[in-house]
Amino acid sequence: MKSTNPQRRVVVAGGGTAGWMTAAALARTFGEVIDLTLVESDAIGTVGVGESTIPPLVLYNRLIGINEADFMRATQATFKLGIEFQNWKVEGEKYFHSFGSTGKDHWSAGFQHFWMHGLENGHDANYDEYCLELKAAYAQKFSHLPDNGLNYAYQLDSSLYAAFLRKMAEGDGAKRVEGRIAEVELDEVGNIAALQLDNGKRIEGDLFIDCTGFRALLIEGAMHVGYDDWTHWLPCDSAIAVQTASVRPPLPYTRAIAHDSGWQWRIPLQHRQGNGIVYCSRYLDRDTALDRLLTTVEGERLTEPNFICFQTGARRKQWHRNCVAVGLSGGFMEPLESTSIHLIQRAVLRIIRMLPAGEVSQRDIDEFNDQQMTDMLQIRDFLILHYKATERRDSAFWRQCATMEVPDSLQHKIELFRETGRVFRKNEELFVENSWVQVMMGQGIMPRSYHPIAAKLTQAELDHLLNSIRESVEKTVAGLPDHQAYVARYCGAQ
Ligand code: FAD
Repeated sequence: MKSTNPQRRVVVAGGGTAGWMTAAALARTFGEVIDLTLVESDAIGTVGVGESTIPPLVLYNRLIGINEADFMRATQATFKLGIEFQNWKVEGEKYFHSFGSTGKDHWSAGFQHFWMHGLENGHDANYDEYCLELKAAYAQKFSHLPDNGLNYAYQLDSSLYAAFLRKMAEGDGAKRVEGRIAEVELDEVGNIAALQLDNGKRIEGDLFIDCTGFRALLIEGAMHVGYDDWTHWLPCDSAIAVQTASVRPPLPYTRAIAHDSGWQWRIPLQHRQGNGIVYCSRYLDRDTALDRLLTTVEGERLTEPNFICFQTGARRKQWHRNCVAVGLSGGFMEPLESTSIHLIQRAVLRIIRMLPAGEVSQRDIDEFNDQQMTDMLQIRDFLILHYKATERRDSAFWRQCATMEVPDSLQHKIELFRETGRVFRKNEELFVENSWVQVMMGQGIMPRSYHPIAAKLTQAELDHLLNSIRESVEKTVAGLPDHQAYVARYCGAQ
């Protein structure tokens, strides 16, 4: 039998959200079974954005034993029930991608089929009216409900989250080393042997996790695994972020507001609001983008603008030899649906599941790469949908998006939905049927037909189904407390 000693010395390079999420989870899970060191450079700093999340983070925090109220207090977090998309289909219209389910699915067909049957039979209520999370978001209400009755995520201060996780990781035995990585030392077969810091320290390890952000010092700088460029599908390549004082109670949702060459975000936290503009530099110059951001933000500006350039795409291998990329070092696909922190979480949980016993197994590496890349490709398609399915033709940017060729996998999904109203979720895909339905219909793709099971209902059964769902949503929302008051009470409770 082979030795089951895990890779003893694990080195995390970089201390942004990715680095500390990795270190906290490894330290909490393995304790002294591994020797964990994180290297970061205060002089370099972090990317300084990444504040909107999706529901699986609730589970991640729970898995590593984080008390939710402590976490929300420490990160000034608010609850998030979804994202409002303004101006994506056409200027002046909006839709909401909620985290919940809409209506009630039948095992054979999603709720959209029953809703469409209702449209033909005297029920003119919008699809939105059947979604609890959406209605609660617009009423600015929130409460924890039994059985995950209200599906939610967080809007958080990412630097405070990293600090919170650091405290936890250090408490669980992780060592932090300050210094700039000057060189990545390879051994004779091409594995990473050590990191050389510019202060003379040398950090040896068995397994190295590259969390150095866009620099990707280990996985690309030393390992040269290559990068798949997706800018022909996800054309934005620049962002500017600023933080502002809150001017109103924080909304329990994030806003993504399209403009003629990209979009802007607004993420409300307890103590301030995060704002940013994302754009394609081919169509909008930096000064105009900055001007547009600064003239549209609400509230007093608290920070200087943070300029960020990026290339959408994915590292060809997320794990190579004894190096795993986690976070921006593994690729970046746009902040549009808040999926980056989620990909960090998926990678970290996979590393824990596949922590090598003794020698690194190529089969683990292949499995990891396959799983992580499947996630990325599915998310990529979902993001491209927002750009492709638009009726906007008012700028060169939107004309390019509307006419671009998209991956076959996405084209198939769009056409299937357009013809039949069906969406299928494969390989534990992150975005469930209801997410696709909300975004496709929100962006103007309406099915031409619906499942015959819906027509099986008599008029009385249909009336009862649709009316009872709406009444239940309305009643539940009416009974929910105000979001801001709930956050204050929840975070105040020690
Ligand atoms: P970074 O934060 O850049 O951290 C890199 C670390 O490596 C730092 O500690 C740095 O000091 C260290 N480092 C680098 N080089 C060296 C060196 N030579 N020596 C020592 N240390 C070094 N994600 C979401 O989920 N939701 C969002 O709303 C969201 N919005 C975003 C908006 C924009 C415009 C962008 C660009 C990204 C957004 N993201 C979002 C992604 C999110 O910001 C990142 O996934 C997350 O912050 C993780 O970044 P990171 O830790 O990989 O990199």
